[in-house]
Parts: sequence; C-alpha cells; structure tokens
Amino acid sequence: MCAAPQHSTVVEIASYCRTELCENYRHLVGAKTIHELLSDSIKPTIHQASAIGGSPSNGGCEHSSRQVAEDGDSPPNCDGRYTLLHETHIALFSVYHMEEIEGTVLAGQSFEPIHGRVVVEDGYITAVEEVSERDGDPDRIILPAFVNAHTHVGDSVAKEAAVGLGLEEAVAPPDSLKHQRIEAADNETLVTSMHRTLRFMQRTGTAAFLDFREFGVDGARALREAAAGLDIAAFIFGSDDPAVLDVADGFGASGANDDEFTARRAAAEERGVPFAIHAGEPDATDIHPALDLEPDLLVHMVHAEAEHLRRVADQDVPIAVCPRANRVLGVGRPPIETLLEYTSVALGSDNVMLNSPSMFREMEYTAKTFDLPSRTVLQMATTAGAEAVNLDCGVIEPGRRAALLVLDGDSDNLSGIADPVDAIVRRASALDIQRVIA
Ligand SMILES: [Zn+2]
Repeated sequence: MCAAPQHSTVVEIASYCRTELCENYRHLVGAKTIHELLSDSIKPTIHQASAIGGSPSNGGCEHSSRQVAEDGDSPPNCDGRYTLLHETHIALFSVYHMEEIEGTVLAGQSFEPIHGRVVVEDGYITAVEEVSERDGDPDRIILPAFVNAHTHVGDSVAKEAAVGLGLEEAVAPPDSLKHQRIEAADNETLVTSMHRTLRFMQRTGTAAFLDFREFGVDGARALREAAAGLDIAAFIFGSDDPAVLDVADGFGASGANDDEFTARRAAAEERGVPFAIHAGEPDATDIHPALDLEPDLLVHMVHAEAEHLRRVADQDVPIAVCPRANRVLGVGRPPIETLLEYTSVALGSDNVMLNSPSMFREMEYTAKTFDLPSRTVLQMATTAGAEAVNLDCGVIEPGRRAALLVLDGDSDNLSGIADPVDAIVRRASALDIQRVIA
C-alpha cells in the first residue's frame, strides 16, 4: 500500500524457510533464493531455524508458520495438516516479494517512455533499468498508480441525487442534500457504500486518495473501516472536532466563510499533520481568509487571482483542482494553466455524489478542456497528489513505494497509439488495465 515506509519482516520468513524450500520457490523471488537475498548477519538465525522443519522429501514441515511464530525457537508439534510449503508460498508473496515487470515504463518525473523493467522488492521499487532486448511483453505500459487528490467518498450514499442542483443545495454544509443523505444512512450502509467506492477506485488504478471526510470522529472511523482489507491508501482529512486527529491523517476545513478554524488549524500544527481547506470555489471571498490559516493544501481555487496566487507562491501551498465537479456545479473553470505558474497542482474527482471517482475520466476531461500537455495532466493525477501529503508513491523511481498501474498497450482501445502518455491521459480506460499493484 502507498504509505510511509515500513520495516521489512524478511527475517520472520527466513526463520520458517528451509534451504530446500527456497530452491523450490526460486522462481518466485527471481534469480536468487531467499537465503542469498539475506545479509550474512541474519544467516545464523536461518540455519538454526532450518533445523526445526520436517524432512526435505515432504517439502517441509506440516506445520503452519503461524504456529512456528507462536512457538518461537522450540521444536514445533507437527500434528497439524498445514503444510509449510503452502504457508511459505503465502509468506513469500505477502511479506517478501521480488518481481521484475517489463514493458514501456513511464519512469521518473518526466514520464519519458523507456523500454525497460521495474524491479520491485518487498513493495518498493529498487531499480528502473532500460533494456535493449524485448524479451518481455512489448505492449505492456507501466505507469505510477493514480493519487486522487480530492474526494468526498462519504457521499457514495447519494450518487446522482443532486443532478441539476447548484453548490449550495447539493453539497454546502450543514444542510445540503448530500449532508441529509449521509445523515439518514445507517453506519453499515455508509461503510458498505464507501467500501464499494474504494474498491472501484482501486480497480480503476488509484493507489491512494485524499478524502475530506465529514461528520467528525465517527465519519473518519467509518472511512477507516471502509478501507480495511483493500489495497488503496485512504489519507483522511477529518472534520469538526479536533479530536478527529486521533483517527484522521489531517484536518479538512469546509471553507473559511463557513466557520472559524484557527483553533483546529493550531491543533493540526501541534500534531504535525496537514491542514487543508476549500477555497475560491463559488467566488474569491474565502481565499485570503483561507491563506491566513497557512494551509498545507488548498482545494479548488476556481476564482484565484494574481493577488491570491502571489501569496500561494510565497507560502508554497499546493492546490488540488476538481474541474469536472466545478463544471457539474456550475461554479466556473479553475485557471489551471495559471495556477501551475505559481505552485504544484494536483487533480481530484471531488464528490462521489457528482462524479465517478475514476482518474481516467478526470484526466480525459482535464486534457480536453484545458490547454495542458498530457505529461502535465498525468503528473497532476499521480505525483502532485502524492507529494502534497508526502506519500511515497506517484513516481516510478528507486526508493518509492511500488504503487504501479500496468496497462495492455495492445488492448482493443489502445492498439496502434502514437504516444503512450497522450493515450493514457486522453483515451485509456479501466478496461485497459492488466494489473494494479499497490
Ligand atoms: Zn471538496
């Protein structure tokens, strides 16, 4: 999952894994056995642990790795019918997994296509190598999985409920149709609806999303519950009570004209987590007050003018734009080309009530509505959102989390394309996805 780096638990596998078994699974970990991948300092532990398995002929001890873990170093009781073979198989995939993915790689910040391979070890990109011989699938296209920079997945219970309504009636707190629908939903319905939305986002290539979650602590908890078990990272901007920061990853303010946010901004600062705020959506009146709060992320900025953007540049605040939602609500068109002259701009699909949270759809709309190069739009849909909140994904380069999207460049939709970046941004769809790695 696209998140802060975590300590590898490869040693734990090693203690269940005997040499013969490693040989059997050589193909799963590339050219080397697990033993060869480990440092010398760990090897004595491995050899000690090797002595506790079953005979080499049966492929390992009929004993679960879980039991071994509980038993520690003591010889296990092998009554169970679990096979170490099976358990090790799972462990290799879930804990230590090395893989090389070859194809056209949109590597680095430039997304310059190279024919090469991405080497992934233990969930991280360890190398991006150009190769001259095309032994792999020459049609495969590998790009960073998307980071949706602004969503409200809570309104998964109100899809299309506001067709034809304006901003105030549809989504403005506290009494809009969206708020009424969410409030009327029971917790199970809400969690299930959000879970299904997240699953859709994951399947359409999104590795992480930055969500403004309404309804305070309970709201943030419901989203955590909805995201459980999925390979998509929810970065939650919680609302209302500052105590929401016990659950959320940052604070999301509806807008500087809606309430007084000074204390909540201070609470986020105290915890060292980001404070984000909507600004300049229906008009420009809340932009200066929002900037006074020294936000870490501004959302919308449809009505931003030069006097605001000079402050944005001085304060070095990134902006998330949601052009489809702005169109649906009739609030205008964010001046993306100008915003990019002052700061980093990320792309979000905004309310699930208004839009399907597919980054393919958001990119296509943006590319065809604004005068922007495809590379810029792809950067807005990947790198910019990740960097806005310091996620370690969004770019294919060594050291980043391997949150990758693998497309079939020879699908019925993509076959014969002139340029992969143009095609991904302007044409590709979820039907072209071979794999989402997150
Ligand atoms: Zn919003």
